[in-house]
Amino acid sequence: MTNRANNPALGQILTGLPIRPGGHTDCTNCHQTVREGDPVGIYAHWGAEHGDWHITDVYCVDCRPRDFGLKRTRILGVPETLAHGRLAVMSDNHTQDAKLVAHSVTLRATSPANEGAHGHTITDD
Ligand SMILES: [Zn+2]
Repeated sequence: MTNRANNPALGQILTGLPIRPGGHTDCTNCHQTVREGDPVGIYAHWGAEHGDWHITDVYCVDCRPRDFGLKRTRILGVPETLAHGRLAVMSDNHTQDAKLVAHSVTLRATSPANEGAHGHTITDD
């Protein structure tokens, strides 16, 4: 079976995926403001209805989970991933809209839909 956690394509998908409009957001856990350049953790799940990934949670460097153990609002039955990365701002010169994205994304854990609460955890240290 394939280990989606090591799928470089998923890291590429998460890179550049819009997180929030504007230039900053709040940590899901402690509500501290995180902004461009900050290291963060991101949680994303697969939205089958639209056929794409959605980043629903952003964590500051102090709160970012290393695996699904601390994540209490998991959605069972859909593929999910936790990743670490840095925030960047992408702006559209045409519309003048700015949006937060993640870059330098490294996957920490993924959970295919058919594995329920038991996801893969990547241990690199
Ligand atoms: Zn936090």
